[in-house]
Amino acid sequence: MTKVSSLLKLAATKDAADSLSTKKRLFDLPAGMVYLDGNSLGPLTHAAKQRAVSVVEQQWGQDLITSWNKHQWIDLPVKVGEKIAPLIGAGPEQVICCDSISVNLFKLLSAALAMRPERHKVLSTIDNFPTDRYMVQGFSDARVAPDVELISVSEADIVASIDDSIAVVMLTQVNFKTGYRLDMRKVTEKAHQHGCLVIWDLAHSAGILPVELDACQADFAVGCGYKYLNGGPGAPAFVYVAKRHQQHYRQPLQGWMGHANPFTFDPDYQAHQSIKQNLVGTPSVVSMSLLDAALDAFDETVMFDIANKGLDLAEWFICVLNKLQLDKLFEHIGHFDRNHSGAQVALHHPHAYAICQAWVAKGVVADFRAPNVLRVGFSPLFLSFQDIVIAAERLADVMQSTYYLNQEFQIKQAVT
Ligand SMILES: *Cc1c(COP(=O)(O)O)cnc(C)c1O
Repeated sequence: MTKVSSLLKLAATKDAADSLSTKKRLFDLPAGMVYLDGNSLGPLTHAAKQRAVSVVEQQWGQDLITSWNKHQWIDLPVKVGEKIAPLIGAGPEQVICCDSISVNLFKLLSAALAMRPERHKVLSTIDNFPTDRYMVQGFSDARVAPDVELISVSEADIVASIDDSIAVVMLTQVNFKTGYRLDMRKVTEKAHQHGCLVIWDLAHSAGILPVELDACQADFAVGCGYKYLNGGPGAPAFVYVAKRHQQHYRQPLQGWMGHANPFTFDPDYQAHQSIKQNLVGTPSVVSMSLLDAALDAFDETVMFDIANKGLDLAEWFICVLNKLQLDKLFEHIGHFDRNHSGAQVALHHPHAYAICQAWVAKGVVADFRAPNVLRVGFSPLFLSFQDIVIAAERLADVMQSTYYLNQEFQIKQAVT
């Protein structure tokens, strides 16, 4: 038996024991493709596809404006927020679906800074996702709050850098490039000891890790609708404000949808005394409807099982690379450890971009993160252990024949 066929056999026994294996049927994946990019753009579910047809043809096409009531469009942000809440360990009335992570961060940062008026520092990591950092820099660059100072440290130095001068600690729980996972409980505890507020970005943890916002006494959080939640391209994000803060929380993007009574058309703003204050303008109904439908894939799942499978897939991938001696063909494989990683693996190579393109040409989709990372994501609802072996076999093809050196794979496209 060849190495690959014995690995496939072993993978088949893992698949047979996988309690989540039936979830794959809910997804409308292209035949023959192995999709290792659910951490960047989750794939289409049959439910979302059907909802797209009904929301466009029936609700918009036939029922038109009556759909705000008839199909409860107006309730979508709350409804979708409440569906996301149990996935991130949040009790009711604390999560709402709206806008993008970037815009939601602006709201949270403004509100949190106003809750610590004597402090001006926001502590974050130097390699946090750029938009998170840019939003803070915007406060001083655009003179919204010129005194705000962004303090940047490495992940290893976060806890030690928290002191009484910090207003807000703003962190992404799982590093978008390396997959390194921060200890939410420990960081939040330390921050609270020093009177700081914490904003967690859950872009790479919501829908893949058992996040426990309430249990960790988190203050604020944001997360993504189009990554592990499979809401579709540009799906709206979500925002979490802990119940205990809602009374004092004021965000400055005062739109009519966040008003206490939007349909009285009051000339003066009065904030909704609830999570609804985060609404700004009219919700993106079509996109939010697709996210609503996609979230049903999480019905009857336990986040702990999802997380375990994601980490098992990542470990299995590393094991298969090793067995096929592919690990040696990379500069190094990013550190992975179940207790401190998300469900992703970073392969470092000077030709990472071209390798990624060549792998795509062989039917395996992962992504490239500048300058030299091939980022591989393991979204457990639609991936099998056999898929991982198939993907690795195709990677062996790409690497051993140096197929990736072909000219066509060198051209950088607009989105990498
Ligand atoms: C994907 C991602 C975002 C995206 O922000 P948007 O404003 O919703 O585009 C933000 N933060 C992190 C950590 C991400 O990975």
